[in-house]
Amino acid sequence: MSDRIKYISSVEFEKEVLKAGNVVVDFYSTECPPCEALANKFESLSETYSDDIKFIKIFRQENKDLAKSLGVSSSPTLLFYSNGELIGDRLTGGIKRSEIVKNFELLVSHERATELKSRIEPYSTECDVLIIGGGPAGLSAAIYTAQAKLKTIVVDKDLPGGQVKVTHLVSNYPGFSEPISGYMLMHHMAEQTKAAGAEFRQAVDITESDFENRFIVVDGIEKISAKKIIIATGSSPRPLNVKGELEYKGQGISYCATCDAKFYEGKHVVVIGGGNSAIEESSFISKFASKITIVHQFDTLQANKLAQEKAFADPKISFIFEHEPREFIKNGDSVNEVLVEDLNTHELKTINCDGAFIFAGMTPNISEIKQYFKLDKWGYIITDANMKTNLENIYAIGDVVSKQFRQITTAVSDGTIAAISISKELETESVTEVLINS
Ligand SMILES: Cc1cc2nc3c(=O)[nH]c(=O)nc-3n(C[C@H](O)[C@H](O)[C@H](O)COP(=O)(O)OP(=O)(O)OC[C@H]3O[C@@H](n4cnc5c(N)ncnc54)[C@H](O)[C@@H]3O)c2cc1C
Repeated sequence: MSDRIKYISSVEFEKEVLKAGNVVVDFYSTECPPCEALANKFESLSETYSDDIKFIKIFRQENKDLAKSLGVSSSPTLLFYSNGELIGDRLTGGIKRSEIVKNFELLVSHERATELKSRIEPYSTECDVLIIGGGPAGLSAAIYTAQAKLKTIVVDKDLPGGQVKVTHLVSNYPGFSEPISGYMLMHHMAEQTKAAGAEFRQAVDITESDFENRFIVVDGIEKISAKKIIIATGSSPRPLNVKGELEYKGQGISYCATCDAKFYEGKHVVVIGGGNSAIEESSFISKFASKITIVHQFDTLQANKLAQEKAFADPKISFIFEHEPREFIKNGDSVNEVLVEDLNTHELKTINCDGAFIFAGMTPNISEIKQYFKLDKWGYIITDANMKTNLENIYAIGDVVSKQFRQITTAVSDGTIAAISISKELETESVTEVLINS
C-alpha cells in the first residue's frame, strides 16, 4: 500500500476532500473484482499525479451514509473534486485508465498535464501466451495454459466475462441443473482463471498491436510480448439503434433464440428481421411461444426458400412487411410494446407482446486488426482444426472464428483446443531449443 494514497472515513471527508484542492476519491468494497481491477491503475497513476492531486480511498461498506448522501450506489465509484466542488465524470464499473486521465486533465492545467504525461515511463512484459478477450473462449484457454505452467496474460477492454456476463440466465451450459445467471457463471470462470495463475489486464485499451512481431501495447504504457497470441474478442449483435433496444437488452430484448426462446413459453414475441437467422430462429421460437409476429423492412423475406416455406406454414407465425421498429417499450418486467412504422404511409402502430428478438446480423470484434487475417465472406477469422490462423503463432477462438454455431460450449471447446495445441507446441519448441544448444 503506497503512502501516496490515503484511506479515510466519513468523519475526515470534509477536511481531506471538501477543504482540499484537487482530489480523486475511490469508493471501494472488498470482494469486488472491478475494485481490484481499479486498484492497480489507481496506484500506478498516483506515482505520476500525486504531487498535484490527492488520492483518497473510502471503504464503502463502512461509510454507507456518506456514500448514500453522495449518490454512490456501486463499487468502485470514482469522484473528482476541485476545491470542494464535484467536477468531471462519475466513473463506475470497469474503469479505464484513459477515462481517469481525461478527468485529471480537468483538475490540472493543460501544460502541467502534458508535463506529467511525459514523465510516465513505458515498460515491457513478456509472457508465453497472450489472450485478447476474456469471454468464455479466452478464459477457458487461459485456464488450460496457466495450469500447464505457461505464463498467461488475459487482456480485455472491459471486465472479463464477455457476452455471457450480461446474459440474464443460461440454461444450456453443462453442470447446472437449474438455469444459472450469466454473471455468476462468468464470475466463477474468471475466479478459476485467476486461481490457475493467469494474470489479467482488465478494462484497458489496446493502443498498439503488431501480430507479426507478436506484441501489443496496453494503455500506451505496457508493451506485452508473447510467444503465442490468441484472439478471443467475440462478436456483437449488430444493433438496430432503435430507442429502448440497448436499455432493455436482457429484459425483453434478446439476440439469441437458442438461449432465450424457452423463457417465452405460451407468450407472444415480436421478431425483427427477414433473413435466414430471423426466419429459422422464428421456427425454433415457435416450439415455445404461442404467437410470433415477424416485422420485416422489405416486402419479401431474404431467407432461403425452405426456411420461408416452413415459416409460412406455421400457424403461430404472422408477418408484417415493409415496417421497421421505432421504439421498444417496457412497462413491467419485460418489453411489452413495439412501436413500428409503416414505411409506405409512415403511420405508427403498436404491437403488444411479451418480448422481442432482434436478428439484424452479428459482426466479429476485429475492426482494428482484420488486415492481418484471412477472413470468410462475413468477416470472421478462418482457422485450422487447431484454431491456428494464417499468421504463425497466432490463434483465434470463440465467436470471432468462422464457424456455424456460436455458443458458450463451442467457445469453451475452441479455447481448450487452442490451449492444448499451444502447450504441446511450446513443449516441442523448448525440447528442440535444448537439443540445439547441447
Ligand atoms: C444476448 C445473448 C444471449 C446469449 N445466451 C447464450 C446462452 O444462454 N447460452 C449459450 O451457450 N450461448 C449464449 N449466447 C452466445 C454466447 O454468449 C457466445 O457464444 C459466447 O459468449 C462466445 O464467447 P467468446 O469468448 O468467443 O466471446 P465473448 O463472450 O463475446 O467475449 C469476448 C470478449 O472480448 C473482449 N473484447 C472485444 N474486443 C476487444 C478488444 N478490441 N480488446 C480487448 N478485448 C476485447 C470483450 O470485452 C469480451 O469480454 C448468447 C449471446 C447473446 C448475444
